[in-house]
Amino acid sequence: MRVGFALQATVPCAACHAPVAVPGLVESCPCGKCGARSLLPPHLWRSLFGELAFAEAAACAEGDAVTVTDTEGGSTVVYGRRQPRCHRCKLELPVDSLDRLARVGHHDCVCGGRIRVREADALARSLLPAARFVVRESTPDAPGPAAPPFILVAELSEGELARMVALGGEDGAALAAADPAASADTLGALAQSQDWTARAGVARNPSTPAEVLSSLADDEDSDVVEALALNPALPPPLCERLCGHDDADVRSKAVVHPRTSLAAIRQLVERGESDGDVLKAIATRADVDTALLDKLRIEGDTDVLAVIALHPSADEAMLLALAHRNDSDVGRALLRRKTLPLSVLRALTAEDAMVTEERVRAHPSYPLLAAFHRRVNVAIGIGVLVVVVFLAAVAVFSPAAE
Ligand SMILES: [Zn+2]
Ligand SMILES: [Zn+2]
Repeated sequence: MRVGFALQATVPCAACHAPVAVPGLVESCPCGKCGARSLLPPHLWRSLFGELAFAEAAACAEGDAVTVTDTEGGSTVVYGRRQPRCHRCKLELPVDSLDRLARVGHHDCVCGGRIRVREADALARSLLPAARFVVRESTPDAPGPAAPPFILVAELSEGELARMVALGGEDGAALAAADPAASADTLGALAQSQDWTARAGVARNPSTPAEVLSSLADDEDSDVVEALALNPALPPPLCERLCGHDDADVRSKAVVHPRTSLAAIRQLVERGESDGDVLKAIATRADVDTALLDKLRIEGDTDVLAVIALHPSADEAMLLALAHRNDSDVGRALLRRKTLPLSVLRALTAEDAMVTEERVRAHPSYPLLAAFHRRVNVAIGIGVLVVVVFLAAVAVFSPAAE
C-alpha cells in the first residue's frame, strides 16, 4: 500500500541564524532574510528525520503530526501521516497514478493548483528505504517565511507498516529497544529517542552494536547509563569507563560487571572510592584478593565488613580484625562461615557484646573438647560449691564441743 508521510523542517540560516523554512527534500536552500544559502547534506536530513520519526508518523492518525524542536540546534521539524493532497482545495491525489504523474513532473488539480510530483531519489530512500515519490515540494529556490509540508509516499506492506506503528506508538519504542531480535539500524535510531526508557532499553540490549553502546555512556540520564552497566555484552573498555562515572549507582553496577578487570577496580579503590554501596559491591566479587579486600576493610562501613566477613579471600588476620570490631552484624556474618579459626571464635566470645556465646559455641568449628572442658569446669565448680556449703553447714550445725 502507498502511505504518505508529511514532513516539514525549519533550520537556522548558516549566516544570520534566522529560521529558514525548507521548501522540499533539497540539499541546500536560500535564507529569506539575508539570501545566504544553507547546506542541507544527507546526514543533516537523517538527523532531522530518523527511523523513529517515520515510525512515530506512522503511528499518528491521518492528518495528525508530531512537532520536535531542537532548542540547541535551532531546528524544528514536524512529521505526520498524510496522504498527498492539493494544498489549495485539499482534494486527494490519485496515489495509484503517481508513477505517471512523476514522469510528467506535476499534477494539475481540478482547482487549478499545480502540485509537484517526482520519483524518490537516493536522499529520500536514505531517510525511508521504502520511499517511492516526493510530492508537493515548494519551488526550491523561492525563499519564503513558511513552506507547507511536502509528502514522501512510501510503498509498504501491511507487515512493515504494522512494525512501524508498533515502534512509533506509546511504549512501542521501549518495547522495540528491549527486543534482542531488533536490527542494528532500529537500535541505533532508538538510541536517539527523546524517551529515556527507549534509550535504557537499547543500553541494556545485548544486540546493540558497540558504537551505539559507546554513545550511550555519556547519556545525560544516569538511569540509561545504569542500564548500560547491566548489559552483559558491554565491551571491557566501556565497563572500565563506567567505573569512573560520577553516579555511584552506575559505579556499583560497573564494578560487578564480569568484564570489568580487577585492575580497574583496584585503581578505583586506590583513587579513594568512598561510597559504601560501591565498596560493598566490590566486596561481593569472588576474585578480589586479600590485599584489595584489606583496603576495603579499612575504608568500609559495617555493611561492607559484613560482606568481607564471608569472602573466600579473607585470611585469619582479617577475620580476627573483623571479630575485634565487636559489631553484631559483622559477628553474625563471621559465624555464617563454614569454618572459622579458633582464634576468631575466641575473639568473638571475648569481645562479645551482641553475639551470644551460645551462637559461637554452636559454630561447627568450635572445638568439641573446648565445649566439653567448659562443661566439666562448670560441673567441678558446682561440685566444689556444694561441698563448701555442706562443710559450712556441718561446721555451723554440729553440736559445739562442751
Ligand atoms: Zn540568513
Ligand atoms: Zn486543488
